[in-house]
Amino acid sequence: GSREILEAFEEEVRKHNLEKEVLVTFSGCHGLCSIGPVVVIYPEDIFYCQVEPRDVPEIVEKTLLRGMLVERLLYRDPITEEVVPRYHQIPFYMNQTRILLRNCGLINPEHIEEYIAREGYQALAKSLYKMSPQHVIEEIKSSGLRGRGGGGFPTGLKWELTRKNPEDPKYVVCNADEGDPGAFMDRSLIEGDPHALVEGMAIAGYAIGSKKGFIYCRAEYPLAISRLRTAIAQAKEYGLLGEKILGSDFSFDIEIKEGAGAFVCGEETALMASIEGRRGEPRPRPPFPAERGLWGKPTNINNVKSYAIVPQIILKGSEWFSSIGTEKSKGTAVFALTGKVKNTGLLEIPMGTSLGEIVFDVGGGVAKDRKFKAVQTGGPLGGCLPTESLNLPVDFDSLTAAGALMGSGGMIVVDETTCMVELARFFLQFAVAESCGQCAPCRIGGSKMLEILTRITKGQGKMEDLSMLEDIANFMKEASLCALGQGAPNPVLSTLRYFKNEYERHILDLR
Ligand code: SF4
Repeated sequence: GSREILEAFEEEVRKHNLEKEVLVTFSGCHGLCSIGPVVVIYPEDIFYCQVEPRDVPEIVEKTLLRGMLVERLLYRDPITEEVVPRYHQIPFYMNQTRILLRNCGLINPEHIEEYIAREGYQALAKSLYKMSPQHVIEEIKSSGLRGRGGGGFPTGLKWELTRKNPEDPKYVVCNADEGDPGAFMDRSLIEGDPHALVEGMAIAGYAIGSKKGFIYCRAEYPLAISRLRTAIAQAKEYGLLGEKILGSDFSFDIEIKEGAGAFVCGEETALMASIEGRRGEPRPRPPFPAERGLWGKPTNINNVKSYAIVPQIILKGSEWFSSIGTEKSKGTAVFALTGKVKNTGLLEIPMGTSLGEIVFDVGGGVAKDRKFKAVQTGGPLGGCLPTESLNLPVDFDSLTAAGALMGSGGMIVVDETTCMVELARFFLQFAVAESCGQCAPCRIGGSKMLEILTRITKGQGKMEDLSMLEDIANFMKEASLCALGQGAPNPVLSTLRYFKNEYERHILDLR
């Protein structure tokens, strides 16, 4: 509904002859999705939420003309119940470290000038004129940046491997095929700050020696695609993309490829096949994309967030970045917090923040004040963590050790009313439906597990089913060709590990 609100503001501002004093503009997502649409009034920093077009005349009359607040539209903290009138006093934002999301909700993403005014494209200029490609790679390596798509592979090392490959041409690919249920981090980042991605990819192109980039974005994200198209066109107009960027010898262009909504195309080898116009099916690795990627040529693939953070690292230095986070997981993590939580939305916290701090301090706790039961992280290939894990530091290695996954950043809060067996079945059903069916462990193992789980939830399960589920799951993890089949059993394995009693209750109670 924000478009209608914007138009109502424009009309009201015109009616009161305020056009010279008041600029009405839109921004990307502020992150606090549960209370949108949001209107922020600067410079006073007033934060109005759940605004409707019919509220606009009152806001203009009271706030813009008389300097008063419209009390009923102010944010009310779900924990303390207190009214918080200023944007930056809201605990949801105060408890975050917004580096990647620094421009989201602040700038108009369709105006390159606003990105430039926020130090935009300075990192590209610095790279081209003050740093050699190897120097850029060293900076990313020493920052400790690990891939934000879920795998956590060191980004600088990946860039170096691609650069060192003597084959030409080389390609830079961005994986924006965000297909997890409950995940919208990449979408919001592109919609709110598309130039950060464009600039990060151009720097990657310079570093690895590539002239061509592709952004593989799912077609279900039309606004993200349209903002990317605008950003690319504007960057070309300003000499920041295309031939001889900023007067240097470096040329780089970016093309957008729209995915048709297959989850498996988020797997890098399937994604490359899809860009090439072939059926989106994974292939065995090695060879890795740095060795043989798009059209058999060296290719660097990173996620949206991995590229978008690069300009900040180049500008502020690797030491600054590596001072945030934990010893092995540097920087911040962006999560889409959804499910049974009060503050659903997009948030950014330093790596190492505990699960409890995310759910309770930033997320405001469980909705309807019910009891917390679990958090599901990492999407359909991730795992469920119980109450005992609330002190767990959120970083790549701790989550994996606990049987979950960082994934690309989906985090779903589960309360006492949710059946964990049903939840595991839901995610497995998704993975089975999205399997490409190419290899037997995933195709047959997934269907067999789903059949057993369905039987259990219908009250027709047997105790032996639990060990059978574990056996098939472990075999799938070992023998499946790609991450989809290897990760699909995770929701089942993690719920068996932490909530086995719920499986047993299904089997025993319903007999
Ligand atoms: Fe296809 Fe599943 Fe095998 Fe991956 S693991 S290649 S999705 S069948």
